[in-house]
Amino acid sequence: MSARRLDGTRVAAAIRADLAPRIAAFTAARGRPPALGLVLVGGDPASEIYVRNKVRTAGEAGCRADLHRLPETAALADVLAVVERLNGDDAVDGILVQSPLPRALGADAETQVFDAIDPAKDVDGFHAENVGRLVQKRARLVACTPSGVIELLDRESVPIAGRHAVVIGRSDIVGKPMALLLLHRDATVTICHSRTPDVAAIARQADLVVAGVGRPGFVTAALVRPGAVVIDVGINRVTDPAVVAGLFPEGHPRRQQFAATGSLVVGDVHPDVEAVAAALTPVPGGVGPLTIAMLLHNTVRAAEDRAARRR
Ligand code: NAP
Repeated sequence: MSARRLDGTRVAAAIRADLAPRIAAFTAARGRPPALGLVLVGGDPASEIYVRNKVRTAGEAGCRADLHRLPETAALADVLAVVERLNGDDAVDGILVQSPLPRALGADAETQVFDAIDPAKDVDGFHAENVGRLVQKRARLVACTPSGVIELLDRESVPIAGRHAVVIGRSDIVGKPMALLLLHRDATVTICHSRTPDVAAIARQADLVVAGVGRPGFVTAALVRPGAVVIDVGINRVTDPAVVAGLFPEGHPRRQQFAATGSLVVGDVHPDVEAVAAALTPVPGGVGPLTIAMLLHNTVRAAEDRAARRR
């Protein structure tokens, strides 16, 4: 058996196509496009790529996206001042502060910054008010990655209700909101984390496995019941040849890619899962494109909701 590939790139394009008339209607009605303010502190190379993709995707969709850069040496007060300025700017609908913030800003800097964002403009869905609304099943703006996974499952006709979903990882941005969204769709949800004694035994009971662990190839075929659906949220840059050798057999095209570039982006799901799963998301080309499409979705939703409240 070879798993069906759940094509995140195609589904992300469909989400963007659905948003196009809403963006056009908003722009016509308000005399300006939906607008996103992005804040990037420092020059983390991965963050640079993520932010560039977000700005490009928003622009191509007909939204305005302004990038506000702060140096690595910025103080927390400087970041909060930019957020306050964007909160007060009526022509800005969505605010995103790229994570991670530089370590020097302190352990709870991200919490302070996310708490400072106007919940109506919180397109990442990280503000405590939006998380609380999600818990109570009356969400407005939901974290982009897990809501993108739900869109993918729906648009690929993967049933959720009544299924046993095992979410591996309990972070605020992936695991917890993912588990809540699946619960609200009537899945029976189990969450595993680093202190779970036997993740494999639990994962093998799942109809649906969602891996957000941050460990290359963590979910091997031994963790997957034959016929299960596997969603790989992981995005891991690998530079260790031994890790690459453990993931891909000799002669595999990705080995050649590694030999040419010295690094590979891989997921949390081992390639051997393809032989047992009914369906899975590739990395790259799975959940990643959906995250950006859902950011666009949240920006349009925030713009529409703010306009409706003013009427
Ligand atoms: P994170 O904050 O580091 O959380 C990782 C989670 O995995 C934690 O809950 C941790 O448990 C759990 N974990 C670690 N080792 C484990 C083990 N041996 N067994 C079971 N659970 C284990 O990471 P994250 O921000 O959620 O991101 C997870 C992955 O998704 C990363 O690869 C990240 O790059 C990727 N990601 C992708 C997208 C996208 O757009 N596709 C978006 C966001 C993140 P504890 O809580 O006990 O430590």
